[in-house]
Amino acid sequence: MTRASLSLVALFAVCVALSISAWATPQPDRMTVDNFPNPADYETGSRDWFKAVEALKYRPLLSDSLTQNCPHSFDVLHYNIALFIDFITESIDGYTIVASEAKEADLSSIDLDFTILTVDSVVGETGALGYLHSDPVLTIDLSRTYAVGDTFEVQVYYHGQPGNEGPAGFGGFYFEGLPVKAFQMGVGLDADPSSMGKYWFPCWDWPCDKATAEYHITVAGTIKKAICNGILVDTVIDTVANTATYVWEANYPIAPHVMTVNAGRFTELVDSTYDWIYYWVNLRDVEDALIHFGNCDIMMEGFLARYGPYPFDKFGYCMEAKGDMEHQTCVTHVNTVLQPNHIYDWLLAHEMAHMWWGDCVSVGDWRDVWLSEGFATYSEAIYQEHAGGPTAYHNYIQQNIMNPVLNSGENFPIYDPNYLWGTTTYEKGACVLHMLRHVIGDSTFFDALAAYRAAYEYGSAVTPQFQAEVEAVSGQDLDWFFTKWIYEAGYPEYQYSWLADSTPGGYDLNLVIDQIQTGGTIFTMPVEVLVTMASGDSLLTLLVDEDHEVFDLVMEDEPTAVEIDPDNWILNTSEEVPHAGVRDLSVAAELSLGQNRPNPFGRATAIRYEVPRSQHVRLEIYNAAGRKIVGLVDQYRPAGPAEVVWDGRDAMGRDVAPGTYFCRLATEDGCLVKRVTLVK
Ligand SMILES: [Zn+2]
Repeated sequence: MTRASLSLVALFAVCVALSISAWATPQPDRMTVDNFPNPADYETGSRDWFKAVEALKYRPLLSDSLTQNCPHSFDVLHYNIALFIDFITESIDGYTIVASEAKEADLSSIDLDFTILTVDSVVGETGALGYLHSDPVLTIDLSRTYAVGDTFEVQVYYHGQPGNEGPAGFGGFYFEGLPVKAFQMGVGLDADPSSMGKYWFPCWDWPCDKATAEYHITVAGTIKKAICNGILVDTVIDTVANTATYVWEANYPIAPHVMTVNAGRFTELVDSTYDWIYYWVNLRDVEDALIHFGNCDIMMEGFLARYGPYPFDKFGYCMEAKGDMEHQTCVTHVNTVLQPNHIYDWLLAHEMAHMWWGDCVSVGDWRDVWLSEGFATYSEAIYQEHAGGPTAYHNYIQQNIMNPVLNSGENFPIYDPNYLWGTTTYEKGACVLHMLRHVIGDSTFFDALAAYRAAYEYGSAVTPQFQAEVEAVSGQDLDWFFTKWIYEAGYPEYQYSWLADSTPGGYDLNLVIDQIQTGGTIFTMPVEVLVTMASGDSLLTLLVDEDHEVFDLVMEDEPTAVEIDPDNWILNTSEEVPHAGVRDLSVAAELSLGQNRPNPFGRATAIRYEVPRSQHVRLEIYNAAGRKIVGLVDQYRPAGPAEVVWDGRDAMGRDVAPGTYFCRLATEDGCLVKRVTLVK
């Protein structure tokens, strides 16, 4: 109440001072996007429409603009935002107090991020301060120096029509919808870097500097309300001015890009299970909302069970016209998806999970955005698992998370991605968590998430910090996992073949697994192999870490089918191909290398050899000096006789000089050599 009253005095002083001046020139749309996905498509509730919208977000990233920007010369402790929202002129007017702690000696000026709006004045403890607003940077002369650890405040007065990404864009401050709302979307499709906090208040607009916040949002009349992050602590009705001011406090550290205000006409619904979950909907949608949001308590129950206590003091969804965004404790949820059914439960779950991942633990660097989006996407499956059990979980992973990756055509690493909001950071990031769960086991996986949260809650983290927490909890060095999956592109494309032989003790299963993906990354993974036998199935786990692996497995019964990764624990493709040959133990009793025929030879000669069991075989030609001329065989071969022809050329296809050469057969069972004579 005290702070609200103080704020209003200053706020209206500014309003009066500016009321006679014309508003700043309207800002042009900052981005125009053609071919916006057909809104009718979202009727299906599939991810496709949202992926199409996300496609609009695709843009090249400038790595040099993504430097972490933390720590910097000061640390923001608290934002106090006091604004009058004018729906008639579509403008805002007020001030923001930025309270900070100096992190550098002799700090005499600071830079804040702030764009489009007009700065009227800046005030500090010594009175008016000098400033230079070179959009998007507001440089403030503190008019004195501060020592490391000193705290100080600057109060920036400003006004104007806030900017956004345009009608088809996503981020920024909008006046839009029916009924019209004024609302802030904190992340841009086209903004680089992505944070758009600077579009409505001066801030250090990087997710790694979080602060507490309070809001004093004033609207004309008493019909419209203003909803912000945190909890509503006061509502001040001014009957003389005919305004209402809503005072919200975000008492948990918050990053500028998840700070929001939503002003307009709302009907407030409260969850019947959790009385701190709110749904702010349009009056016309109340009936539909009761169904649409009907499973949110189950989602919350699932996430509480998996991720631990809810990190904040309130949660809610607030309807507006633009899109879904995980503003802390106050998700903006787009009008068009509010339907009297549950086809968008995945979206509700995704945004709710962001409260733990992306908001409570923020990404310290936009290059690590998978720590937010991959986690939230994975949480969609966690909700499915909670509501429908393991089968629902696995089905969701396969159909809604893995298949989009396999069909995306994207081929770049998760870290520092070519596109920030693509399938790679969302669905492939989710796959990484799914696979990590497989690698370290269920309980260790969730213990690791808890440790990661405990270490970085209300702060921010980057990928090496997440890896370190997982390694500490699991006791495993996981470089082999993170290096390939986070910092390199692609996924394993397995090609496998198998052959079973009867042996006195049962069956000998020869299984060959190749990784045939291009691009150079060979993945190391524990691969589950399901062997089907008349007496029952056997699920084996084999470590596959090379491009060509051969396993000789002893089975009790005759295998009739072999399947790679039957439960989809690995993001991969797999294809079964015929085995290289039929193995006939009666033919080859021992290793042999026959004399080549003809010998001596002029144009070509045939070389026969036999191996007693299936194995990897190399057959190479050396010259008299012991130098390898050409390799004729380098592959897995079945047991039995084989023949290969040498045409008297080297590895480059050139004719070699007449003379004496040596044919060398190298196998796991030994090595044999024969002399070969070439004449011309
Ligand atoms: Zn998300």
